[in-house]
Amino acid sequence: MSPAIALPVTAGFSRLGEENAFAVLARATQLQRQGRDIINLGIGQPDFQTPAHIVEAAVKALREGHHGYTPANGLLALREAVAVDLARRFAVDVSPELVMIVPGGKVTMFMAILMFGEPGADILYPDPGFPIYRSMIEFTGARPIPVPIREENGFAFSADETLALLTPATRLLIVNSPANPTGGVTPKAEIDRLVAGLARWPNLAVLSDEIYGQMTYDGLAHQTLLAYPEMRDRLILLDGWSKTYAMTGWRLGYSVWPAALYDNARKLAVNSFSCVNAAAQHAGIAALQGPQDAVAAMVSEFDCRRKLVVEGLKRLPGVSCRMPKGAFYAFPNFSETGWKAKALASSLLEEAGVAVIGGPDFGVFGEGFIRISYANSPDNISKALERIDAFLRRRNAVE
Ligand code: PLP
Repeated sequence: MSPAIALPVTAGFSRLGEENAFAVLARATQLQRQGRDIINLGIGQPDFQTPAHIVEAAVKALREGHHGYTPANGLLALREAVAVDLARRFAVDVSPELVMIVPGGKVTMFMAILMFGEPGADILYPDPGFPIYRSMIEFTGARPIPVPIREENGFAFSADETLALLTPATRLLIVNSPANPTGGVTPKAEIDRLVAGLARWPNLAVLSDEIYGQMTYDGLAHQTLLAYPEMRDRLILLDGWSKTYAMTGWRLGYSVWPAALYDNARKLAVNSFSCVNAAAQHAGIAALQGPQDAVAAMVSEFDCRRKLVVEGLKRLPGVSCRMPKGAFYAFPNFSETGWKAKALASSLLEEAGVAVIGGPDFGVFGEGFIRISYANSPDNISKALERIDAFLRRRNAVE
């Protein structure tokens, strides 16, 4: 018998979390393999294909021999295309020298949290919010301070509540609008208020996760933090191609950094992934420079499904649901049904064949809610709602 071995990894790993959406996806796939009919409203990715001209650009890049490393911060042509795109969307002037190409939006938050997280530091993050924020904060040994995102506030963040949580120990503030998991969009007036209040905290960095910035509804314009000149020296912008161009599997994202932080981010790239896959970067150029009609078509399709899902949810016994203003998630309130959200999500998958994510997977303020991704066909959404309805009525009748 070989002796028992111990491989003591560093302490942070005992605190590193996960994204339960991937566990739910794995379980849903396992059930499907067993022959179960599962409708997946769990995973946060568009159910569309990447537009053909973008795929062709990657194929062409490979055929033309773009097989080697690129600069660690990304191809200059791609960084320039990002700057032009930001100018087009927001009339802002961003130097390509401050744009960093990274393998997916997640990598920007990874870098930013590594840069500011350490024991003794506080980092503020939205709750409910994308679970990786808290997981990475805990990994670094920093103290995670949740900023409650409230249903009664339309799932916008509150500037006053955020500002009230700041202390000299706060090193990084994370904001996200349009938001996962709630679909909330924070109004411009609230963002103005936050920016004004931040003047009192000049040494605080801000990470603005705007990955859903092109997915807003009812004519609502996305308000980027890039548009505030006074924020530029402390703002880290997170964006990318995953959601906008249905490119989650390509692993392509970008960040805009303050000049003072850029070299730290570039060095993290050199020390980890070296550069993003060259063909994917060529695809990224085609996405930004090519026709944008596929984006508009996808958002308009999501808009129809958003209404379908909210109308259906409101008809369920004991369920209420705010109309989401952005992204492709609804965050219905199930607290009146008496179910704990995670138990409900798990029973819906195992018994009703519908994969959704329990609100507490996005933070303690998510109790009572579940996240429904409407990145699925209208037929499947309607079928899933019928199944949830039948499940709740059956269970209510039994209990
Ligand atoms: N930020 C938010 C709020 C997200 O919901 C996601 C993905 O679900 C990401 C960032 C990460 O995106 P990517 O797949 O490009 O890493």
